[in-house]
Amino acid sequence: MYNLDYPGATCQKVLVDDERNTALIFQKDTLIGLVTGLGQNYIAREFKPGLVRQFEETQSGIDLWLNDFTLKRIKLTMDDPEQKNAVVQQLRLMDLIIPNFPAVTQLAIPAFITLILIELVVLKRFKNVEGFETRDTATSLLMGVGNVVSGLIFGFVAFGVLSWLYEFRLFTVGFEWYWIAVCFIIDDLRYYWYHRIAHRCRWVWAEHVIHHSSQHYNLSTALRQSWTGVFTGMFVLRIPLVLLGFHPLLIVFVGGINLLYQFWIHTEVIGKMPKWFEAVMNTPSHHRVHHATNPRYLDANYAGTLIIWDRMFGTFVEELERDCPRYGLVKNIGTFNPLRVAIHEWVEMFKDASSPGLTPKQRLAYLFNPPGWNHKEEVTGSQAIKENFVRRNPEESGNPGLPKI
Ligand SMILES: [Zn+2]
Ligand SMILES: [Zn+2]
Repeated sequence: MYNLDYPGATCQKVLVDDERNTALIFQKDTLIGLVTGLGQNYIAREFKPGLVRQFEETQSGIDLWLNDFTLKRIKLTMDDPEQKNAVVQQLRLMDLIIPNFPAVTQLAIPAFITLILIELVVLKRFKNVEGFETRDTATSLLMGVGNVVSGLIFGFVAFGVLSWLYEFRLFTVGFEWYWIAVCFIIDDLRYYWYHRIAHRCRWVWAEHVIHHSSQHYNLSTALRQSWTGVFTGMFVLRIPLVLLGFHPLLIVFVGGINLLYQFWIHTEVIGKMPKWFEAVMNTPSHHRVHHATNPRYLDANYAGTLIIWDRMFGTFVEELERDCPRYGLVKNIGTFNPLRVAIHEWVEMFKDASSPGLTPKQRLAYLFNPPGWNHKEEVTGSQAIKENFVRRNPEESGNPGLPKI
């Protein structure tokens, strides 16, 4: 028995990691925490959901992996097998372990491919249209692959920052299904604002424009994803969730489900869904509006999964039969080269911002103002397009998605 001045607890020094001098804290017979740095300025941690990522029984004791950047792995040596069993059992009972969240978007790849093929057949056989263009679909698929690769290479930066901030959380939320649901809904709101900023600030648009660069609208368009998302720093929008106590792995998981949901809405095969569904959920109809370049549809329907955010924040526009969506960008890029698709807007943006004769304020405006902004005209970008449209069609003045002139 080893006594340690830890409030209300007796520290039984049963397991020692030679390097880190670690002990487990027991209150009576119950495991309540972990102490490291014995004999010096020790650090005590309570066992809470989120402390331990994983543990493994070894010949000589137990190895613990902590969700923590200072102590990644602790090897606990234990000679007494009975004691080891007791500790292992307690660790299991304490529900400390973070569920092994599946990598949903990667797992879904076979389903993506199958659904794309089904859509292709439906369009050709039953609708008699060519909804696909081979080189366009090939580019979309390559963009999807590049997105996964860039996520693997650079994703750890964002994840590292969030994991570090998780140490400063105000509460600790578990992994019960209802917390997963709450996390999903808050994260969907986070997605709405990310997406809205992505369309209204060129710095983020430079990354998001990729998703809009196809002039087709089919399931393969859903996979046309950015390679440079990490560089915009928009992962900071996830910080509130981390500080509320949602584990970064849980946040990544619900984000994956959200992207998964958004796959099936990239199609023209489905018209409108039942009214109640269109009222609450993002649907093919709502998202067609988002991808359209028709003046009334620009800067509308930013939702991920729930369309309620657009209805709440005034960005909702209904798809009209009399105004069929035309897809792509206001100025199409005319290339299928994946690398050019991935970086064209970054290049254009820095060219604009560094052109001669601009004031520092104008240079910053080229980086952070809405896409299409320029220093010569007073009304620019989507606002100019909408106003011009209303001038030509005065009867449309003040209709959803259009200004009143
Ligand atoms: Zn968008
Ligand atoms: Zn989309």
